[in-house]
Amino acid sequence: MYISDFKYHRPKSVAEASKILEQCDNGLPLAGGTDLLVEAKKGLRIFTDLVSLAGLDELRIINEDTINIYIGAGITHNGLVYSDLLKNKLFALSEAASKIGSEQIRNTGTIGGNLCTAASCADTAPILMAYNAQVELTSHIGKRTIPLSHFIISHHKTDIKKNEIMTRIIVRKQNKSTAASFVKFGLRESASISVASSAVLLHFDSGVCNNASIVIGACAPTPVISENANNIIMGKTIDELSKNSELINKIITSASKDTFPIDDIRGTADYRRHLVRILTKRALAFAIKRTNILN
Ligand SMILES: Cc1cc2nc3c(=O)[nH]c(=O)nc-3n(C[C@H](O)[C@H](O)[C@H](O)COP(=O)(O)OP(=O)(O)OC[C@H]3O[C@@H](n4cnc5c(N)ncnc54)[C@H](O)[C@@H]3O)c2cc1C
Repeated sequence: MYISDFKYHRPKSVAEASKILEQCDNGLPLAGGTDLLVEAKKGLRIFTDLVSLAGLDELRIINEDTINIYIGAGITHNGLVYSDLLKNKLFALSEAASKIGSEQIRNTGTIGGNLCTAASCADTAPILMAYNAQVELTSHIGKRTIPLSHFIISHHKTDIKKNEIMTRIIVRKQNKSTAASFVKFGLRESASISVASSAVLLHFDSGVCNNASIVIGACAPTPVISENANNIIMGKTIDELSKNSELINKIITSASKDTFPIDDIRGTADYRRHLVRILTKRALAFAIKRTNILN
């Protein structure tokens, strides 16, 4: 199918991009195009104007201050994979990005596009939610910063306004006894959308878990924070979480019960619930192994 005629804009600043979006009848930002152009060719996205973000260098910066790490929304997935800062300080995000699509998709698709598409199977969202990330949304009027968990409202539905551009993803620096991991299952080894995924973040104080976040992807319209699993983990020691199989069984059962999966071409709801148990068990084991390295 051909894409209908549209106007193409190439602004030089976020403020200019925002003004163009405000003035258009139905304009959309274009980042890597790996979602937008595919959907447009299927007739699923109609627009009068495309506002390219390619000229906006400010979206392609990763940096830090004493409190946070800031990731430009225009950073590609391979940009997340190969960033030394992220590999050292937010390893599980680099890990999640390395499992997205193929080399071509990782070189083109961006973290901002992944979050703004808000597909229930998106791979950067669960781990960023586990990290309690915030997103910065900028227009020519100003900026606002909201938790990612509020930004993603449902499958393909976000809180973004017509004139807003996602500019940065903000993650608080993790302390040395925090460890995280991300595990996904797709139907092929590569270029494969998640049938289910699990992100785990554990924080220990003197060997006792005082903050846990398990977030399940692709098993509900948005990533699901499993409060029941988190509550079971809190107060447990690294030793208990490494060795007590009955405890692990309770955690993964709770994570699975907290999801709302559907049947679709990639798998049934029951199969997804089963996958959540296995993936969460693996993600927990990886995270706990990493705490041993960190401590
Ligand atoms: C073959 C293939 C395999 C894939 N595999 C995976 C996978 O394994 N895991 C996964 O999670 N995804 C996968 N995807 C989906 C896709 O590649 C990602 O979601 C990608 O990150 C989208 O980013 P993009 O830069 O291409 O966004 P675009 O397609 O340019 O934009 C997507 C949407 O976000 C909006 N947008 C983009 N950037 C901004 C911004 N800064 N501010 C405001 N709005 C913005 C656009 O207007 C559009 O609505 C795959 C896609 C393909 C084609």
